[in-house]
Formats: sequence, C-alpha cells, structure tokens
Amino acid sequence: MSAAQAPVSAPDHEVAIVGGGFSGIGAAIALSRAGIEDVTLIEQGDGVGGAWHWNTYPGVAVDIPSFSYQYSYEQRADWSRVYAPGQELKAYAESCVERYDLAPRIRLETKITGAAFDDDRHLWKLSTDSGETISARHVIGATGVLTQPKPPGIDGLEDFAGTTLHTARWDHDVDLRGKRVAVIGTGASAVQLIPSIAPEVAHLTVFQRTPIWCLPKPDAPLPPPFRAALRWIPGARWLFRALSQTYVELTFPVAAHYASVVPVAAQSERLGLRHLQVVTDPEVRDKLTPRYSLGCKRPSFSNEFLPTFNRDNVALETTSIARITADGVQTSDGVEHPVDVLVLATGFKVFESGNMPPFPVTGADGADLDQFWTDNRFQAYEGVSVPGFPNFFTILGPYGYNGASYFTLIENQMRHIVRCLGHARRQGATRVEVTSEANKRFFEQMLSRRGRQVFFQGSCGSANSYYFDANGDVPFRPSTTIEAAWRSARYDLTDYRFEPLPAG
Ligand code: NAP
Repeated sequence: MSAAQAPVSAPDHEVAIVGGGFSGIGAAIALSRAGIEDVTLIEQGDGVGGAWHWNTYPGVAVDIPSFSYQYSYEQRADWSRVYAPGQELKAYAESCVERYDLAPRIRLETKITGAAFDDDRHLWKLSTDSGETISARHVIGATGVLTQPKPPGIDGLEDFAGTTLHTARWDHDVDLRGKRVAVIGTGASAVQLIPSIAPEVAHLTVFQRTPIWCLPKPDAPLPPPFRAALRWIPGARWLFRALSQTYVELTFPVAAHYASVVPVAAQSERLGLRHLQVVTDPEVRDKLTPRYSLGCKRPSFSNEFLPTFNRDNVALETTSIARITADGVQTSDGVEHPVDVLVLATGFKVFESGNMPPFPVTGADGADLDQFWTDNRFQAYEGVSVPGFPNFFTILGPYGYNGASYFTLIENQMRHIVRCLGHARRQGATRVEVTSEANKRFFEQMLSRRGRQVFFQGSCGSANSYYFDANGDVPFRPSTTIEAAWRSARYDLTDYRFEPLPAG
C-alpha cells in the first residue's frame, strides 16, 4: 500500500517502552514529566527493577555508590549503606513506580518477540509471546545489555548430576550449607558471591580464567544520624551526590577514556596491587594478579573477595576446565574436582547480535537492526537512534554509555529523546528519523577519540574483556558525563528528519 492510501488509524499508544528496569522506569517518568502520558511499558518479568529483579544471588549489591545510583530527581536519604544491597534497589524501583503512578501503564509478564515498522502508518507493531500485537508511534528500547545469561560453552554441562545455578537466576531453595561448591568465573558477580557463600559451604573451588582487578570498596553502613542529616539538612544529599559523582567519574570514564591524559588507571593499578597483599599465599596472590591494564575490562570493588582466598575451605583453580562430568569439574590436567553445586558466574551476552535488543527489529524498507550492525559495526547517533529505524530510540545503544552511573545515562538519553519527541509534536510530525550524515559524523567522532582510551593504549590483549565486540570496537561513549549531558540538551534538531503522515 502506498503512503498516500494509508489509513490514518491511530496506534494503541504514542510511546511503548520495552523493559521495566531503571531505564524503562526512568523513560516513563521522563515522558510523563514532559506531558507525554499515552505510554505503555512492557516487561517480560513478573516485577520491575530489571537487573535487580533478576539478580538475587547472595551478596548482590551495587558497585558504584548509591548517592550516584539513583535518579537525580528522586534521591533517597535512607540507603542503608554507601553501596546499597540488591533488595534495596529493587524496592527503590518499586517505590518510583508507585510515586509516579506508573503501575497502570505497566504490563508485566509480556515478552516482546519482534518489532516491525509500518511505514505507511508511521508506527511500530510489537509482537508478543501471547500472540497479541501492540502498536505504538514510537518505541523506546530499555532492555538493558547485561540481561541474557550466557551459557559458558563448556563440554558436558548438561551431564552434571548435581545442582547447577547461574548467578542471574539464583534459586533460593538450594541450600549450600555443608556442600562442595564450584564457582566458574571471577567477574563482578562472582566477586560479590564468593565471600558471601564461602563461610557456609564445606568446600569452595573457584575456577578463574582471567584475574579481575579488585580495588578496595569505600563501603560502610550509613548510620541513622547520617541519614537524618541527609534528609533534613538542605543540600546534604546534593553534596554527597556531587562527591560520589566525582569519584565515579574519575574511576570509570576518566580512567578509561582519558588514560593517556590523566594517569588514574595507572594509579588505581598500584592501589590494586597493594590490595592484593591481603592474600597471604604468594602463589595464590600471583594467580590473582591481572596481567592487563586496569580499565581494559570492568574492575571490581570489594574488601572481602581477596581475603576469602586465605580461608582453608577455599581453593583457587586456574588450570583450564576441560569438561563438566556427572560428578564435578575436570580440568585439562586430568584432575577431577568433585562438586555438589555448580555455580555459573559466567556473565551475559553483551555486544553481540540478538542482544541489543533481544528481539528482531525491522525498520523502514525491511531493514534488520542486527544486520545493519553486522554490516556497519555497532553505531547509533548519540547512542540513541539509528538511520533506517524511524521512531525507535534506545537508552543503552552503542556509544551511549560512558561507564559512569546508569542513572545519568538514562537521564541524558531521555533528555535527548524527549527533546526530539517534543519537536515532533510541535511540527505535527509522526515520523522521526536520524539522518545518515548525522549518524556517520557522530560515529567518526567517537572513533577519533581512541587515541586516549585505555582500550587502545593499554595492554588489553590478555584481558578477555566483553567490552570488545567482534570487530574489536568498544562501543562505549568516549566522553565525560558532562559532555554527554550537554549534547543531549544541545544536539542539532536538524540531525533528524521530521515528517507528517501524508493526508488521505
Ligand atoms: P562477567 O564480568 O562477564 O564475568 C564472567 C566470568 O566468567 C569471567 O571471569 C569469565 O572469564 C568467566 N567465564 C565465562 N565463560 C567461561 C568459561 N567457559 N570458562 C571459564 N570461565 C568462564 O559477568 P558478571 O560477573 O556476571 O558481570 C557482568 C557485568 O555485570 C559486570 O561487568 C558489571 O558491569 C555488571 N555487574 C554489576 C554488579 C554491580 O554491583 N552493579 C554486580 C554484578 C555484575 P574471562 O574473564 O576469562 O572471560
């Protein structure tokens, strides 16, 4: 059907948000504050909170200070610790839903299985696992990145006769007390899990492939008088947020993206090496020592992880895993490690096809988003929009996230999107598409900044970092958070084409 003959029937909603984590909740709040109320938020799980809904393993907590890990406009005064535990973050998500009256807009237990743009009607059709189709003028992808547990690809996994758990799908009915437990992986999840379970298990074997840089965590309970001060003293919450934002900015974006300019990463390495001295056995300490530059992969923060290897019931195994057997783990030297419970702390799909988002997206002229990225490398204008995919915006698109707080990312990307949708409204436009020229300009600018990034200057060869995609690109935004915020408010609106539905 040609555009001229298209029916002008309205979509079910002006905006559909896919994902009920902090990105989706933040998107719904930002739209509401901008007066865009015809919004539906679709979430696959049976509750909101995203990562904090799914990840409930022992020890789960945020790894940047809570003063930064919250919306700027919804700052809590009652975090129990500097680094809040997972259940407090889940409760925070729920409290935001309640406070902004989002529940009537949220559809839980609804999985989006595909999205296709109807260019005759300027709307997206979202298919769901129930067979129902939901239409929306605009779609905001808020599905996160670290959401799909990645099978570790180890032979024999299905042969294991004991219990297998993944950190991101913890089964709290499994009792680890007195059991022989193996943890595969030493990423951020394992760093939190290992010290939490070590005291209760009979024996714990940690299978490490690549050591992680582990830095001291400036964590502490926030006592009631401190919380009262945060609540009642004018400006106190903003003061601690400013301190926290500065710390986060220095330890993540500045350390990684300005490595050749500001030697934060090198100094942090020295701190990490000093922290390793808590490990008493020199051989174990050596095995835990990373041989790549700090920043090549996500560092972790913990005061308990390294000392756990001083325990008598904990063993660090660095011989590679040959296969899983019915009784445990066999390493490549032929040794069998008997195990009752096997914990996969093996992470998630990240920068790979089928994950961004985790459903097929078909844009104008049948273009497939995954294919676009396979052909052209990961890219998105300001990390938000892709040419050929009108009316489709992403919170966590390529070159959007700079490594600081996800909350600043969410607020920045929503400032960008709301500005775009506001302009479309004022113009009477129903189709909004970023131009190829603007996208190309942005992509080239991001690539031109590699010269100062740790990923391309440091020795990342042995890091085995999920930051690098199949093309060797690291699709993080190589900028400060202030620059990202500024650009979200100032980008040139002519970088988008705004078109109305043809009359008829
Ligand atoms: P991850 O960082 O990807 O770590 C996975 C671990 O499993 C790595 O040590 C990896 O080794 C190992 N592994 C994977 N496949 C393996 C195999 N076949 N054989 C042996 N080892 C294998 O995953 P994660 O720890 O779940 O963390 C993912 C991300 O989630 C973090 O980087 C962080 O951004 C986020 N996170 C955040 C928090 C928080 O506090 N906010 C907490 C947890 C996670 P290699 O290193 O050799 O690949």
